[in-house]
Amino acid sequence: MKNIIATTIISLGFLLSAGNSTAQNANHVYSYPVGTSIINLLAESQGQGNKGILIGATDEMIAACAPEGTFPNAMNAFLVQMPSQTVLVDAGLGRELFNNLESLGVSPSQIDIILLTHMHGDHTGGLLREGVVMFPNAKLYLSQPEYDYWMGDEKFKQQQQIIAAYKDQLHLFQPCELGKSTTDLVPGLTAYAAYGHTPGHTIYMLESGGEKLLVWGDLTHAMALQMPYPQVAVTYDVNPDDAIAARKQVLEYVSKYNIPIAGMHVAYPAMGSIKRQASGGYSFIPF
Ligand SMILES: [Zn+2]
Repeated sequence: MKNIIATTIISLGFLLSAGNSTAQNANHVYSYPVGTSIINLLAESQGQGNKGILIGATDEMIAACAPEGTFPNAMNAFLVQMPSQTVLVDAGLGRELFNNLESLGVSPSQIDIILLTHMHGDHTGGLLREGVVMFPNAKLYLSQPEYDYWMGDEKFKQQQQIIAAYKDQLHLFQPCELGKSTTDLVPGLTAYAAYGHTPGHTIYMLESGGEKLLVWGDLTHAMALQMPYPQVAVTYDVNPDDAIAARKQVLEYVSKYNIPIAGMHVAYPAMGSIKRQASGGYSFIPF
């Protein structure tokens, strides 16, 4: 009997892991060319967000956009493969991240650069495993205001542990202002301020072979609501008013210049284009 149970458990384990590798292709990884580079979705999970996280959504908005009280959501990081460098944008939860990288044939030691949008746990979870640096050859880029925020209170132990572990690889910088200043952070990648979700929340423009794509981090958490109604915030925003202003500014910019976007909480394939609606809101057209 014990043997049968053991065999069953082993078979189940095999089936589950086989299921995982299929899922890796089905909704965890998606690749899209931008000029001479490739941006790859590295999804941790696909799921549903709940209306309980929304701030400022009226009953009418929820009835129109999320009648069940839920909306599609995901947790994503992205891998940008450029001719001269391999760049990870955020590090997810660290659960599927390494399987996703492996499915693309990329090992953690091959990552040259990590760009952090901010330091919430669903964006930094893959940086350490049991205190060990998982990307030993990467330079870790973090905006100065984001660093200052998380270093400013001893209760932020998790973030401070990451910063301490990566101290020899850490590069602090001041993001540019969207539409006002542009200086490459590294060749082909520019950092822009989009403060509000966190005090140093930063978004990254990829420019390659004459094409652009904006990785906008946590500019949205509920696409179904926040595209038609950018004034809806979420309870995770450290400063909801600033987050709303940043979202409106970025949506206006990418729709005006027709720049596609990639988002950390946008459901699979997590990338697409933004169109301004006559109503004043926006719509998202996934790739
Ligand atoms: Zn997030």
